[in-house]
Amino acid sequence: MKIPFNRPTAVGAELDNIADALARGHLSGDGHYTRRCHQWLERRLGCKHALLTHSCTGALDMAAILCDLVPGDEVIMPSYTFVSTANAFVLRGAMPVFVDIRTDTLNIDERLIEAAITPRTRAIAVVHYAGVACEMDAVMALARRHNLLVVEDAAQALLATYKNRNLGTLGHLGCISFHETKNLISGEGGALLINDERYAERAEIVREKGTNRSRFLRGEVDKYTWVDIGSSYLPSELVAAFLDGQLAHADQVIARRRAIWRRYHAGLTELAASGALELPRAAYLDRVPNGHIFYVLTGTLAARLALAAHLKAQDMLSVSHYVPLHSSPAGRKWGRASGELKVTDDVSDRLLRLPIYFGITDAQVDAVIDAVRGFYKARA
Ligand SMILES: *Cc1c(COP(=O)(O)O)cnc(C)c1O
Repeated sequence: MKIPFNRPTAVGAELDNIADALARGHLSGDGHYTRRCHQWLERRLGCKHALLTHSCTGALDMAAILCDLVPGDEVIMPSYTFVSTANAFVLRGAMPVFVDIRTDTLNIDERLIEAAITPRTRAIAVVHYAGVACEMDAVMALARRHNLLVVEDAAQALLATYKNRNLGTLGHLGCISFHETKNLISGEGGALLINDERYAERAEIVREKGTNRSRFLRGEVDKYTWVDIGSSYLPSELVAAFLDGQLAHADQVIARRRAIWRRYHAGLTELAASGALELPRAAYLDRVPNGHIFYVLTGTLAARLALAAHLKAQDMLSVSHYVPLHSSPAGRKWGRASGELKVTDDVSDRLLRLPIYFGITDAQVDAVIDAVRGFYKARA
């Protein structure tokens, strides 16, 4: 039995949609399927405007442009994240200031943000790790007090909530990913959620190579021209057609992932109670995660490596996660750490993600659980 870490699957009308897009004779961006995806995101998430992008990285780049940063500005963010969270702002000449994470959510520790604020701070980029919400009330209150923008890297967080509101819709701007490793996919893909009307018009322009082509297509101007900086961030209709097929089955996909997550959690609870490993503590009453990642925290780095090797020997793939950005070559060059990032370093050593994807069967999940249990039994 070979169990990959992730396996992308079509769940509905993806292939029929692609054939239909071709029949419609419009394959570049912003056609029928892109509009359908925009409407779905706006209605389902409750955001003012959604714009599909070719990736979450592209959405983050757009968000950084919309923040209107100048060289030397600072953006506070966790170090325990994907490179794109930081890269977007570095490309604007700004400096990432890395703050440690909480031991429970593995998200930025909001209690450490204020100490990282300087006169150059312009924004806070939060990351909802594993689809578990950051302490958004505290983050937004801090941002208001210090007049900062909040960008949510909600790459992993589609349809996860915080106090009944969808992640990605709480900050000024939110960024979603549809990369094949995420819950809902289009191969590569993403979306920028615009929650503050002030950014709506400029976002359209930035996404269309710095032109007002979107206004032209709506008949609001009689020709389009270069009006601002920008690049090409929109996906083709082929990608949007695939995504539309996924979005139609979003509830089914998320429900299945949550069920897998709960199965792992239940299957490993006894082991965790014995102190062998730690399980995610994400079952908060006021936030509903989306089953994006299931991880365990082993006792030590050596135990993580040994457990991963044990699973691999049984053809089951488990994966660690981020090399903290503050200790990466580019992070050291372009960013700085605010204080010691002890939790980040510790979690980076000990975190191991178990296989989770729509098509994994209960029997396969149970086999992984058994293999993890077997590993600790042999060591006891
Ligand atoms: C996946 C991911 C990204 C990048 O998404 P792409 O769509 O691959 O560009 C950014 N940030 C986080 C936290 C992610 O998990």
